[in-house]
Amino acid sequence: MCKSGEGKPEAGLHVSAVMDTQCPFCSVQCKMTVNTDTETLAGIIRTVYKAEGKPNAASQGRLCIKGMNAHQHATHAERLVQPLIRKEGKLVPVKWEEALDTIASSFSTLLSTQGPDAIGIYGGGSLSNETAYLLGKFARVAVGTRYIDYNGRFCMSAAASAGSKVFGVDRGLTCRLADIPLARCIVLAGTNIAECQPTLMPYFHQAKENGAFVIVIDPRATPTAAAADLHLQIKPGMDAVLANAMLKVIVDEGFANEEFIRKRTNGYDQLLTHLKGVDLRESAALCGIEVEMIRQAAHAFGSVETGIVFTARGVEQQTDGHMAVRAFLNLVLATGKIGREGCGYGAVTGQGNGQGGREHGQKADQLPGYRSIANEEDRAYVASVWGVEPS
Ligand code: SF4
Repeated sequence: MCKSGEGKPEAGLHVSAVMDTQCPFCSVQCKMTVNTDTETLAGIIRTVYKAEGKPNAASQGRLCIKGMNAHQHATHAERLVQPLIRKEGKLVPVKWEEALDTIASSFSTLLSTQGPDAIGIYGGGSLSNETAYLLGKFARVAVGTRYIDYNGRFCMSAAASAGSKVFGVDRGLTCRLADIPLARCIVLAGTNIAECQPTLMPYFHQAKENGAFVIVIDPRATPTAAAADLHLQIKPGMDAVLANAMLKVIVDEGFANEEFIRKRTNGYDQLLTHLKGVDLRESAALCGIEVEMIRQAAHAFGSVETGIVFTARGVEQQTDGHMAVRAFLNLVLATGKIGREGCGYGAVTGQGNGQGGREHGQKADQLPGYRSIANEEDRAYVASVWGVEPS
């Protein structure tokens, strides 16, 4: 929204526009206004921009340095403002009509000569919900290809599949950001919120002020780890080993929430059998930390009434990130820390709309609205909306 001419200009400044917008970078999507002014300096008129945070539920009006400077992309002299087509080895600027005609004729040729699966469509977490939906529909209905996916495949699909398997739904956060200050223990595994989502850090500072014990699990000594009460600087790839070792302590030392487990989970006996094979000294050696640190972390999380576990790409982008995330979800379930205030699990999204991209159908295995492409009823429903055969 542009409110041209609004605002009271200072001497020598003319406010030409005030734009309501939001930072495009990380999942917090901090809202802001960008004021566009012109000023005269040494006889030269130049445009100056000033970004200011706007109050909103997530970042509460805060902006980090990335957001404060995000507008520079829009105004950069080298920004692409029209399509480029490679002609005789060189990228040449062309009109949109020519670009769209070229795409349409290339797609038509491929479809008629090689069939729909010769075309692959790849989206990303920077797309709006509506665009993500349209991209999925375009791939599956207009083109008819089975090859559609998005950047989350390399990003947080491990958390998505773990959430689907364990909870029956892939939801980035099972709790509100407002639950963070209510948690008495917070586990941050493979996430560096202080640098990646800086405007969320006050939630964690508030939690600490309220008495929370913060555990950071990260091979790197990050600014987030510097704010922790306990930094478990494990060897890369050992997160599942650590989570299972913590789980063993929780179960063996009486911190498991037996009532929650009995009423709300299944497979606990298999988990107990699995944990019998876990040797704390071996786990500690694999992780490169002391047994006592594992015990301290397990006690801290297991002994308090409320707690939240967050994972991010450090856990999810491992060879078997799916199982690594599930090990952390077991910590949440075994202690019954979900579905209550100050409790839950969160996969900290990186890109602006990583979650929306999944929910709206640009992921290989998901149709819009979290429907599974492998589920007959889900396929039939979406096909009926789109007016096509489920097959
Ligand atoms: S926290 Fe994320 S969305 Fe907010 S200003 Fe920084 S990079 Fe942008």
